[in-house]
Amino acid sequence: MPRTRARVARAADEGGPEAGARVNAAGELWLKPGKERSLLRRHPWIYDTAIARVKGRPASGATVAVRGHDGQWLAWAAYSPASTLRARCWSFVEADTIDADWLAARVRESVARRAHLTAEADALRLVFGEADGLPGLIADRYADQLVVQFQAAGVEAHREALLDALLAATGCGNVFDRSDSASRSREGLAQASGVVRGAEPPPRIAIREHGRRFWVDVRRGHKTGWYIDQRDNRELAARLAARARAAAGRDLAALNCFSYTGGFSVALAAGGAASVLSIDASADALLLARENWRLNGLPEAAAQWQEANAFEALRALRAEGRRFDLIVLDPPKFAASHHHVDRAARAYKDINLSALRLLAPGGWLLTFSCSGAIGVELFQKIVAGAVADAGVEAQLLRRLAAGEDHPLRMSHPEGEYLKGLLLQRV
Ligand code: SAH
Repeated sequence: MPRTRARVARAADEGGPEAGARVNAAGELWLKPGKERSLLRRHPWIYDTAIARVKGRPASGATVAVRGHDGQWLAWAAYSPASTLRARCWSFVEADTIDADWLAARVRESVARRAHLTAEADALRLVFGEADGLPGLIADRYADQLVVQFQAAGVEAHREALLDALLAATGCGNVFDRSDSASRSREGLAQASGVVRGAEPPPRIAIREHGRRFWVDVRRGHKTGWYIDQRDNRELAARLAARARAAAGRDLAALNCFSYTGGFSVALAAGGAASVLSIDASADALLLARENWRLNGLPEAAAQWQEANAFEALRALRAEGRRFDLIVLDPPKFAASHHHVDRAARAYKDINLSALRLLAPGGWLLTFSCSGAIGVELFQKIVAGAVADAGVEAQLLRRLAAGEDHPLRMSHPEGEYLKGLLLQRV
């Protein structure tokens, strides 16, 4: 038995199932010729097709040494035998030891990088997986509650160390696990959801964001409960509404399509929209959206809530001759992968065309796509097609993206997903 494996086996015996992961190199991945190139650029992913052979018998999530075809050391990575994404790199520094201390340092750095954002919100993403050098780990903070997702075998293997590190870095006591996404099955991991540290979260947690307040249901809400990534775009919507009202000198009508729990609805009304129609297919989301409206002291008469399929609802609004000065379109991910791009493109085109037909002259459209498989350029092309088909003219005023707590690591372009356009009809 090679020395390293003997050490791993001993460590595991002594310290329980996690101890083995404390020792680097439970095995080695040797790459095929040419496949070292992306790692030399610090791209963190290694697909099964890039691997020539595996030395040793690393367990799921174990740390392995990655070597080029000539044996050159390239990275420490977490092994994921069930996934075609066979390994995700922790470090490109040979002297590093991937242990609890190393992980805690990465967590501390991630949290510290967001410190300046706490003034504007207490709902923040503290760790964003690959972008923060912790592939597959999501950690969100809602006031004093942490919510985590372990989306890859590597972070799952270090679950306890990472939870300890998150508590130490934030001073929070309660952590709820939302590792219930279907993507876990690709990593050979079962879905899991529940309290992992401290107490059960209350049914709703009040968060603040740019001076507004919202209820978040971390147990049952989408993602970890709230679309944290849209924080700055909701603030933009509020400022636009204020600007538009001042410019128009009249009451403005807004439409928030795919409203979820009303984040943009509240922002639009708080900014100055006289009425907001919110459309979503989920009755639960709309229920919480109404509560959020109330929580911000907005007038009940200014809100309209519609539980409907947005594709049909938008057409119906046109048939009724409705017009809106401000429209937000923030649909769910239409393209789950590259295989779905064509169908997704048609869906984006459809809703954008419908929205543009409802947009008053001079009105603004904030339109988004969170499909990673649809790039910025393609999205802009789709929307340009919708503008042309609607027979209107529009200006692109701004390109939009997720907030700073959802950074894009330059070495990992796959991390880019949320994109948006701010258009004004002219
Ligand atoms: N803009 C929101 C997030 C939107 S998430 C925010 O800032 O919080 C997308 C929403 O679209 C979800 O609430 C989901 O329930 C809704 N949805 C999905 N398919 C839909 C459809 N066909 N019609 C209407 N709503 C839909």
